[in-house]
Amino acid sequence: EPGMVQQAELVLRTLMNAGYEAYWVGGCVRDELMGRPIHDMDITTSAHPEEVVSLFERTVPTGIKHGTVTVLLDGYSFEVTTFRTESVYEQHRRPSSVSFVQDITEDLKRRDFTMNAIALSLDGRWVDPFGGMEDIERGIIRCVGDADERFKEDALRMLRGVRFASVFHFNLAKSTWRAIIQHREFMNDIAMERIRVEMEKMMAGPHPLRGLELLGRSRLLDLPKIGLSSANIDQSKVTMLDQLPADKPSIRWAMLLFAAGLKSDEALSLLKRWTFSNVKAKEISDILRMSEHIYTELPTLIEKPNKIALDELRLLWIRQLLTYDEGTIHNWLVFERTKSSEHDPFMKLILDQALEWNEHVTVKHVKDLAVTGKEVLQELSIPAGPWLGNLLQQLLFDVAAGQVPNDKQQLLEQAKRVMNKL
Ligand code: ATP
Ligand code: MG
Repeated sequence: EPGMVQQAELVLRTLMNAGYEAYWVGGCVRDELMGRPIHDMDITTSAHPEEVVSLFERTVPTGIKHGTVTVLLDGYSFEVTTFRTESVYEQHRRPSSVSFVQDITEDLKRRDFTMNAIALSLDGRWVDPFGGMEDIERGIIRCVGDADERFKEDALRMLRGVRFASVFHFNLAKSTWRAIIQHREFMNDIAMERIRVEMEKMMAGPHPLRGLELLGRSRLLDLPKIGLSSANIDQSKVTMLDQLPADKPSIRWAMLLFAAGLKSDEALSLLKRWTFSNVKAKEISDILRMSEHIYTELPTLIEKPNKIALDELRLLWIRQLLTYDEGTIHNWLVFERTKSSEHDPFMKLILDQALEWNEHVTVKHVKDLAVTGKEVLQELSIPAGPWLGNLLQQLLFDVAAGQVPNDKQQLLEQAKRVMNKL
């Protein structure tokens, strides 16, 4: 994005004019070399955080202790981090303290992989002390320095390595791969949230299957706290994962959990344990829940004559439309079509007919009805109670199914009929 580059250049120039060194570094340099789109630009500098703060009008002290200041410029934000080393790691986790240094190479040394340890100056000078460019060219993910040491320092790097190998379709250097297998139990010390972030990036990439394969072979995440062993994933059920839309990761997650044999409520609690937001966890598990609803109803239809079965199938679908939001309905259709239920004739019918059935449903919520709860109460003159909500739901279903027109008078009549039946 030209605007972002221009503003980043301004940040670099300001630092250099004040007598400091400054470079682009990390993911943005790597992505530029790979010809991939750049989403944010990190900057590294010899200036100390308080000096960075004094040089720019608008800054946020994001992680002053670790040397990171966010500089805000013309709607863009840049993380500016002081050259630093990380000396004391605790229990395979990121360090609690850092020391600032004056040499860019010292800073690059603390970074995880050679491809992430390249810096670029404003005048186009590359600083690439560990052969990152060559590794990018050859498609290799290699630790900076000794892989054993680097994974002992911070075990998350192992999962980052697998994530990068998956997203870029790269290979892991032999020594790096061997160290992953050897030290996988260090993952136990890594917070679930950091694991989840890497897994989400992997699942939203172009080749999640490659990542799963590497996880399967290394058994990196086969830990009790993960609760999902790669051995339990039915390979034949995930083969379509890469074909599912990358911008709808919820469908991919649903497919993965389905392939692992999880029921919707099991999926929900697993996702929450993995620190997914409640909204995300529900979005994913609802796809599975909807399948469960529908599949439990299908066997009873087999016994029935075609015409009746088809009509009951339509009513079953309409019930789904009233139960789940539009996004879930759409996700479920993609999910079920991809996992292919062609062998189940009733499921195939639903998938073929769903969009047509949807078109005829004009009401989705009780508030869409041409009658209010108050009007129903007046007409029936029964004291209000929980029955009213159920009655309104029934009216909603009747209208959605096309059994009663959405007309006030007719709905009041229907309300009386329903109450008499109860
Ligand atoms: P992404 O495209 O996912 O943002 P990235 O490489 O930019 O990839 P970030 O997490 O944004 O990843 O980190 C920025 C840079 O910080 C990395 O390129 C790497 O140099 C360094 N880095 C990040 N995490 C670690 C880590 N756990 N250990 C060592 N260096 C790391
Ligand atoms: Mg980044």
